[in-house]
Parts: sequence; structure tokens; C-alpha cells
Amino acid sequence: MKIKKHKFPGVYIFIDDDGSEKIATKNLVPGQKVYGERIVKWEKEEYRIWNPRRSKLGAAILNGLKHFPIKPGKSVLYLGIASGTTASHVSDIVGWEGKVYGVEFSPRVLRELVPLVYERKNIIPILGDATKPEEYRAVVTKVDVIFEDVAQPTQAKILIDNAKAYLKKGGYAMISIKSRSIDVTKPPEQVFKEVEEELSTYFEVVERLSLEPYEKDHALIVVRKP
Ligand code: SAM
Repeated sequence: MKIKKHKFPGVYIFIDDDGSEKIATKNLVPGQKVYGERIVKWEKEEYRIWNPRRSKLGAAILNGLKHFPIKPGKSVLYLGIASGTTASHVSDIVGWEGKVYGVEFSPRVLRELVPLVYERKNIIPILGDATKPEEYRAVVTKVDVIFEDVAQPTQAKILIDNAKAYLKKGGYAMISIKSRSIDVTKPPEQVFKEVEEELSTYFEVVERLSLEPYEKDHALIVVRKP
């Protein structure tokens, strides 16, 4: 086995003994497993294998994402952090110099995040509703990146409202879209196009890619605040 650097800083490629390749991040809290992921050691460092079937961001990287604004030292506003599966990899990438503000509106789900953030102090959990960005104004500062995965019909508006309040000028946002959460009656491609059009009223659309075969009828769109 071997670990080598991915083209995105903070992301690694794990090459297994059989030659198969997976993506990974360097564990910020050695010994901490977050969602049953495989942990491997290489040259005295510990890496967590990133499962693309459990994380849409992981799926996007494996599908050839071109723009990845989440980098070491960056601050990220994460809307829909849930129990922290993807956010744990984001936390590994931004490192101790970076920050992840994680908004989640389900108290039950957020409770599952608590053991994780006890040691992973670069994640700041926020019990709040992403449709009301003013609710967390006292905690969140201006950020470099917004990542949104809330599976709600008004996803595009949620992103625009949060970007107006918290995204730095020139900052990037990434949104995962589940077409069925928006409109079950329309073909996914049409839903993605409509979301893209709505986003383009405020952002510059940088990239869109499908998350198949890891997630059915999902896409990820990357935008930039001009
Ligand atoms: N991003 C997570 C991951 O990859 O580990 C999975 C997120 S899950 C698909 C969507 C989450 O968004 C749920 O935990 C849900 O409770 C939360 N959510 C939905 N609407 C929300 C809102 N308006 N504000 C905050 N959280 C919301």
C-alpha cells in the first residue's frame, strides 16, 4: 500500500495492495473513526479513507471535479452538516488553521455530532435553520466557502441568502442537488438546469457534475460570488 498526494491540497490517494485507488484525508484527530471508515497508516501519519457512497463531496472528487475551493486554512460554512460524515473530511482538509461552521436544524441529528466535535475543535456545531441565516449571525463570520447539502426544495434560495450574509466576495459555494427533493415530476436534468439558472441570478456558475453512479439523480454545482 501507498499514499500519494491528490491534485487538491489536503486530499490524498490511497493505493491498496491490489492496486486499487481510493481517496483519503489525513486524520486531524488520530485514532478517531467517524462513520466506520477504514483507517490506514503511512509514514507515521494516519489517513481516513473517504467513502464516495457516504459522501457526495467524495463522489464529486472521484467523478472528476475540477474546482475544489476547500483547502488547508480555509473557513467553510456547512449547511446541513448532519452527523458530520462529509464534514469530518472537510475538517481534516482545512486543518487546525481552518474552520467549519456546521448548521443543522435537527437537534437529534446534531446530538450525534457532539462526540465528534469534542476533539475535532475546528468544527463549530450550530443548531439553526439554514433558511434563516440571521439566526446564526452571532457565531458565523465571513467565510471562504459555503457547502450546502440540505435536500430541500428551496435549496438555491437558501444558498443565495447565506452567500449574501456570509460569503466573502470572490468566494466559492458548492451545492449538492437531489432532483427528487425539488420536483419528482420533472426529469432530473431539467431540475438541475433550473437550479443552475436560479443560482446564476446571483453567482457565476463555475461547474456542474453528476454524482452518478454513487448517488442516483444527484448533481453538484460549484458557483462563485462575483
Ligand atoms: N451533508 C451530510 C453528509 O454528507 O454527511 C448529509 C446531509 S443530509 C443529506 C441533509 C441534512 O440537512 C439533514 O441532516 C437535515 O436535517 C438537514 N437540513 C435540512 N434542511 C435544513 C435546514 N433548513 N437547515 C439546517 N439543516 C437542514
